[in-house]
Amino acid sequence: MGLPRLIILALLVAGGVWLWRRFNQRSNSSTPPSPVQTMVCCAHCHVHLPQDRALADSPYWYCSSQHQQQGPKARD
Ligand SMILES: [Zn+2]
Repeated sequence: MGLPRLIILALLVAGGVWLWRRFNQRSNSSTPPSPVQTMVCCAHCHVHLPQDRALADSPYWYCSSQHQQQGPKARD
């Protein structure tokens, strides 16, 4: 195995590593960001909580069934 072959082999390895890194970067950048929780505000106590934990009573959101029964309250 001569020196030219060794250089070609080294270039191939370097190129492969470069391509692999580039592919990894691209796949990392194309991954969607982690889903952001939609925060809603309780219409009664105005506490913010994730939408999936809130109780919906259109057009209002509540943090608990107790506050849902008490209804919306003006922020003071
Ligand atoms: Zn509340």
